[in-house]
Amino acid sequence: KISSLEPAEDHRICVCVRKRPLNERENTMKDLDIITIPSHNVVTVHESKQKVDLTRYLENQTFCFDHAFDDTASNELVYQFTARPLVESIFRKGMATCFAYGQTGSGKTHTMGGAFSGKAQDCSKGIYALVAQDVFLLLRNPAYEKLELKVYGTFFEIYGGKVYDLLNWKKKLQVLEDGNQQVQVVGLQEQEVSCVEEVLTLVELGNSCRTSGQTSVNAHSSRSHAVFQLILKSGGKLHGKFSLVDLAGNERGADTAKANRKRQLEGAEINKSLLALKECIRALGKNKSHTPFRASKLTQVLRDSFIGQNSSTCMIATISPGMTSCENTLNTLRYANRVK
Ligand code: ADP
Ligand code: MG
Repeated sequence: KISSLEPAEDHRICVCVRKRPLNERENTMKDLDIITIPSHNVVTVHESKQKVDLTRYLENQTFCFDHAFDDTASNELVYQFTARPLVESIFRKGMATCFAYGQTGSGKTHTMGGAFSGKAQDCSKGIYALVAQDVFLLLRNPAYEKLELKVYGTFFEIYGGKVYDLLNWKKKLQVLEDGNQQVQVVGLQEQEVSCVEEVLTLVELGNSCRTSGQTSVNAHSSRSHAVFQLILKSGGKLHGKFSLVDLAGNERGADTAKANRKRQLEGAEINKSLLALKECIRALGKNKSHTPFRASKLTQVLRDSFIGQNSSTCMIATISPGMTSCENTLNTLRYANRVK
């Protein structure tokens, strides 16, 4: 029975954690690595606490996920256990989605491949490229060849509740919902691609558009969600779609407390969308009428990821290892724990 090969209803979300190595800055300031991955799916945070009498003690908190990757894991390995198992579903009319979630600087863009330099045509760079590689392999598979599928790429950014096309000079786009609740980003560039190299060229174009005019690479990109999609069409009609989402940084607190009005509004918008995302993922495979996809622009444009009969999702929660990131790391792990 073929249906038994499909993921079970409650297995349509896979949640993983990836720890990055301590970076130079953290090493220089002698930050402590407080994260251990004692087995392939367990993350332990060794949190240093101060007792009333001012002696310090360690309190360990342990979280369990589908997979946990330590700082030696490659993008390729992370891919094998997260996005890879979803690729084939889009050839069977599925909607696959992969999210990178975590604080700014924890490795979301590194994992997705958004930092691709464009120089070396190296396919091990990140998940964008690895998904593309497998899509083009499957396209030539005899089982799917006869569908005469075409592949298109889109790349856009959601900032402050507005959508900007990264393949068209950040043109601001409208989002419309028709009578059948189908959501459309009006005028979004869909670029046909016929090989991995063409996908990488798109990614590179989108990345340069994303970061252009920024004083620091992370200043703006950490406050926006970037959505890269590979779309399969047959006879001009949507067949399947893979969305790869590099989410805005989830950090709160210190940096918003002293922030200006603009930053506060940004923060509120990000908060709202990440909250909506959590609720939509939690509703996956359950009663579809309760999926609150209209609660944010992010979840609205990703409606297909949550509502379809054949939607599957994975989340890669990226964490920084340092003691100085402890609060953000715990927040990330708690969020990831709630969506699984
Ligand atoms: P984010 O997109 O979450 O803000 P980045 O992906 O930009 O974070 O990562 C911040 C820095 O850390 C970058 O210089 C990146 O190359 C580095 N980095 C992130 N994850 C890893 C990793 N797993 N291994 C090595 N370096 C990493
Ligand atoms: Mg980033």
